[in-house]
Amino acid sequence: MNRRDLLGSALALSPLAAIADGPTAFASPQPLAPIRAQPDRIIDISACTRPFRPQGPRIEAERRHGKAIVHHYGHGGSGWSLSWGSAQRALALIQATREKEIAIVGCGAIGMTTARVAQRAGLKVRIYCKDRPPEVRSSAATGVWSPDSRLVLQEHATPAFGDAWEAMARHSFKTWQSLLGLAGEPVAWHDGYVLSDVPFDQPIAGWEDREPEYAELESRIRELWPRSQALGPGEHPFAGKAPHARRYTQMMFNLASYSRLLLEDFFREGGRLVQREFESPRQLAGLPERTIVNCTGYGARALFGDDSIVPVRGQTARLIPQPEVNYGIAWRGHNVVAVPRRDGIIVQAQGENDYGNEDARPDRASSEAAVTRLAALFS
Ligand SMILES: Cc1cc2nc3c(=O)[nH]c(=O)nc-3n(C[C@H](O)[C@H](O)[C@H](O)COP(=O)(O)OP(=O)(O)OC[C@H]3O[C@@H](n4cnc5c(N)ncnc54)[C@H](O)[C@@H]3O)c2cc1C
Repeated sequence: MNRRDLLGSALALSPLAAIADGPTAFASPQPLAPIRAQPDRIIDISACTRPFRPQGPRIEAERRHGKAIVHHYGHGGSGWSLSWGSAQRALALIQATREKEIAIVGCGAIGMTTARVAQRAGLKVRIYCKDRPPEVRSSAATGVWSPDSRLVLQEHATPAFGDAWEAMARHSFKTWQSLLGLAGEPVAWHDGYVLSDVPFDQPIAGWEDREPEYAELESRIRELWPRSQALGPGEHPFAGKAPHARRYTQMMFNLASYSRLLLEDFFREGGRLVQREFESPRQLAGLPERTIVNCTGYGARALFGDDSIVPVRGQTARLIPQPEVNYGIAWRGHNVVAVPRRDGIIVQAQGENDYGNEDARPDRASSEAAVTRLAALFS
């Protein structure tokens, strides 16, 4: 059974840890501050497309127009999570060009992190981008550790791909832990509750065929963080709403403060940023840098004509922050996911036709409906 079946949908929630069998549950539930789930408390709605490639991210070099182009894009629903390890992999290709001054096109999760990794390796970096945070698509993400979410189709997940993914995921995880405890809490851990009307080993009808079968890779690194625990009716506050519950422990990225931290570090170490849109790869020939890293995410589809990128639409709404809410929620089969970020409680709204859907216009009605479904847990 895959994670999608367990959650009742392909929600970008942290994962197998949330559902894997763990040690025996402990009792004594803590009282939880209720989420004030009201549609009129929605302060922002963002929709965007995950840059998904059935064969996984593209991390490879080519020569074009007299430049070395290192492609680094196509991270689906895992871009934030894998960013550090993926950038490390791209760095090897960058260093192979022997250039000391490089250009990075793109300032989303992948561009910013690649820039920081290159700076740490002693390179001088200039970012060129059409948009920078918070306007980039990365800023619309949920912001949880989800390193194999919509990353690669099962049929393309060869053992070699799995090995490379594992190295990236382990490197990323370690780097994320080094960012804990900082001002503004760019990275944090919290507990959460995954709830279900039916036992967790039963699939939820109606969700199976909405998206293709993505590869499950997390079992390769499952020992890195705590496993979820089954809870009895007296051990969680949602027993009257959902007969089956597990408690999970999840790493979360506060994207507003984290993006700011990345950019501040980038500028402090001498990074430069030029806001510019490229309409064709030929325009890259005019840049002074001879090594150019292509971190344009979904933009690579238009810029480099990469039709293998499939848009997978996603929408998040933010409720007014509640610092007292320190837990997440995933309600299988009810299309409810909430994450207690510092810049607002994120409520995900999964649509029925997200796969292949490039419509990035926010749909307020679906976010309001998601908040109303969440409210049912607290009524
Ligand atoms: C709803 C949703 C929830 C998600 N949740 C999570 C999550 O919880 N955890 C996780 O790890 N991942 C999550 N993701 C996935 C993650 O957000 C993406 O994998 C990641 O944002 C991709 O980053 P990127 O830098 O490649 O792309 P982008 O953020 O799109 O950045 C691309 C950059 O390239 C620039 N650019 C593009 N084209 C051009 C051009 N022609 N000229 C100049 N500049 C250009 C853009 O302006 C931008 O600066 C989620 C995605 C969605 C949609």
